[in-house]
Amino acid sequence: MKNYQFFCDFDGTITKEDTLNKFLRVYAGDKWLESEKEWLQGKIGSKECIEKQMQLFANVDYNLLDNFADSIEIDETFVDFLNYIKSQDIDFYIVSDGFDYFIERILKNYNISDIKIFSNVLKIKDGKFQTFFPNYDQSCTPRSGVCKCNVIKTNRIVTKRVLYAGDGMSDFCASKNADFLFAKGRLLEYCKNTKIDNMIEFNSFKEIKDYIKLL
Ligand SMILES: [Mg+2]
Ligand SMILES: [Zn+2]
Repeated sequence: MKNYQFFCDFDGTITKEDTLNKFLRVYAGDKWLESEKEWLQGKIGSKECIEKQMQLFANVDYNLLDNFADSIEIDETFVDFLNYIKSQDIDFYIVSDGFDYFIERILKNYNISDIKIFSNVLKIKDGKFQTFFPNYDQSCTPRSGVCKCNVIKTNRIVTKRVLYAGDGMSDFCASKNADFLFAKGRLLEYCKNTKIDNMIEFNSFKEIKDYIKLL
């Protein structure tokens, strides 16, 4: 048995591409790119960015979300990895700056259940999106919808070590609160630039599984 908690990003880490980014590309015309640019330049946090982008829609329904979510694929090695994690009694949590509705639908498509998820919340009322940010912390500098460092601080068990896997900007604040990191994409660059060395590069969950076996 391994005494670990595993916190894991969702988009671009478990999924092959970023769900919300793809959703906006497909359905939002060009207007969402204005806030996206402000976010990439660090002028606004992802919470403000997502709020603005989701306000661009009218006449949406849950069918649209379902059909879209059904086009999202996940890492082929994730299910096997998850079974391994469960067999080792490692606690597994998804910490995502995306929306609960997409995450739950995508996991269901792969028969994955019983995972604790910390994310933003998406609802529809009168054809318009409503967004909620129960894990937001305005004092955390990236002003992401979900402050991932807080989620870890609040849920970590003192007797266990924290593993974390991620790929993007919303994972930066979490990276300082993990005992060991699996990184790719922008998170990998960030770890290299800020000399975070308790980290290895990964491309698939098979690599993470092989690594955990050695712990
Ligand atoms: Mg990501
Ligand atoms: Zn934070």
